Amino acid sequence: MDYKMTAQQRKEYKASGGQKCPWCDEADLIFEEITVDFNTVTQEVFCPGCERYWFNVYAFTHIDTPEEVEERDINGKEINRGSAS
Ligand SMILES: [Zn+2]
Repeated sequence: MDYKMTAQQRKEYKASGGQKCPWCDEADLIFEEITVDFNTVTQEVFCPGCERYWFNVYAFTHIDTPEEVEERDINGKEINRGSAS
């Protein structure tokens, strides 16, 4: 299996939010368990289309307080409670 990936493939995969296989464009990807090693979070992704797998590596982006977490829905968007604060 050839796992060589061009910079363009990486760029498109990242821009799509990891929705499609970088090699064959399969959209029905299998996201395996997430592993956490100190501050590196890795997730294996398997493509049933071309049977390749790869690793999504997630980086720390920001900090939320408990109040801020409560104000977000499952997609991370702020829930509008009608207050203009
Ligand atoms: Zn594929």
